[in-house]
Amino acid sequence: MNIMWFRQDLRVKDNPALVEAAIAGEILPIYILDDSNANEDKMGGASRVWLHYALADLNRSLQGNLSLYKGDAKAILKQLCDNNDITSAYWNRCYEPWRIRRDKDIKQTLSEKGVLVKSSNASLLWEPWQVLKKDGTPYKVFTPFYRRGCLSAEAPRTPLAKPNKMTFVDNKMPSYKLEELGLLPHIPWDKTVIQHWDSSEKGAEDAMVTFLEQGIRNYKEGRNLPAKANTSRLSPYLHFGQISPNQVWHQSLNREQNHHLETFQSELAWREFSYSLLYHFPQLPRQNLQGKFDRFPWQWGGDKLQAWQQGKTGYPIIDAGMRELWQTGFMHNRVRMIVGSFLVKNLLLHWQQGEAWFWDCLVDADLASNSASWQWIAGCGADAAPYFRVFNPVIQGEKFDKTGEYTRRFVPELKDLPDKYLFKPWEAPTEVLQQASVELGKTYPMPIVDLKTSREQALAAFKALKNEEPT
Ligand SMILES: Cc1cc2nc3c(=O)[nH]c(=O)nc-3n(C[C@H](O)[C@H](O)[C@H](O)COP(=O)(O)OP(=O)(O)OC[C@H]3O[C@@H](n4cnc5c(N)ncnc54)[C@H](O)[C@@H]3O)c2cc1C
Repeated sequence: MNIMWFRQDLRVKDNPALVEAAIAGEILPIYILDDSNANEDKMGGASRVWLHYALADLNRSLQGNLSLYKGDAKAILKQLCDNNDITSAYWNRCYEPWRIRRDKDIKQTLSEKGVLVKSSNASLLWEPWQVLKKDGTPYKVFTPFYRRGCLSAEAPRTPLAKPNKMTFVDNKMPSYKLEELGLLPHIPWDKTVIQHWDSSEKGAEDAMVTFLEQGIRNYKEGRNLPAKANTSRLSPYLHFGQISPNQVWHQSLNREQNHHLETFQSELAWREFSYSLLYHFPQLPRQNLQGKFDRFPWQWGGDKLQAWQQGKTGYPIIDAGMRELWQTGFMHNRVRMIVGSFLVKNLLLHWQQGEAWFWDCLVDADLASNSASWQWIAGCGADAAPYFRVFNPVIQGEKFDKTGEYTRRFVPELKDLPDKYLFKPWEAPTEVLQQASVELGKTYPMPIVDLKTSREQALAAFKALKNEEPT
């Protein structure tokens, strides 16, 4: 009897471990919500909501045979082996530092019990140890990582079909009902978020097909416009493994190539780059990769952080993004960059607070992509945006949401303001504000920070850091 341990691979198609388990014989499919101390990165609220529905879907695909557990994965796997006649265990690899440590330990424990353990790659196009510089060290800059590293490495494997036959066994160890995992919040926020998504494996495939038939047509330019449906919105499915990057990569290669598809493929490689950084620099989620930033005078907490989280900063594009995040569990990439820059370079708040809020609210919250992106935005990462690049939320709004469609959708109290003032309502004459029923400070906040002074403060702090001794 073979355990198939589902983790971040909640799918039946293109699942290498499931294929191997099915070939080996009878399967006992399990999922463990590991909330033990080994888990240093407990899942955020939105991810838990997504997981709830994704597990329900996976269980349907496995004809109701998925056994659910909660607790310490090592202890549970040992008990499963004691209660059933287990000969082997299959899983697909994860790359979070705590999971790597835990899985090594589990592998050793099960092997000592005489259980054969086999792990596979189901979530990356290239393993992090496969793409290295000539001298054997990891890349720290994206373009050479992708061009010299990925594109000259072995091509990503082609996707596998769903196993033709899966024979399930009776599990002798009692398991949890889905509701008993406690993944849904006490407030009905899950319904607010999940109504925007079809969080099933089929939903992932549909999203991919729709995108490759429609959204991709204007991806290169349109991917920067938050009002447009020009990006795939595949990130939560990729995170939970409801679709594999190989399925997406090969589907994109099967079409006539153009600059839109090439740009999309390179975006998929940004995900690979984040995983490579996390693997080679496991301190990525917790420490500035550039040590000199440890002395940067970033602040913690306070009213400004709360205003940012609640989408009440007085800067409409920032508020639209933060409200999109709360209402849908997602935020468009361009807007993620604008709100991130605002947090660390105008509010001068530590990037880890932004990372933590995203971690809790994003349905695609991913340790590698989230921490690499926040370090990039903050300027302290491996391949960071230069610190002096401060996004101006007024200019960004005017440029990337020209007609204001996105901003008006999430900040409806400004919907009647003319485009000219939409991204800077404080400059609107009184009669314009009155006509649009906007009362600054009452129906919509005044800006919580002055852009020019805060930018100068940030740059001065950075300059001081640069002039210090190199670390
Ligand atoms: C501050 C900040 C935090 C972020 N946190 C996360 C996170 O927790 N999880 C996450 O998946 N992405 C994160 N990203 C990256 C990016 O914003 C999302 O992957 C993207 O918006 C997802 O939308 P999409 O699927 O429509 O992307 P598309 O444009 O359709 O791209 C296709 C896929 O490529 C990958 N991808 C694209 N851009 C990036 C990128 N810059 N970095 C890594 N992978 C990328 C994603 O898997 C995405 O689904 C973050 C970006 C920023 C600036």
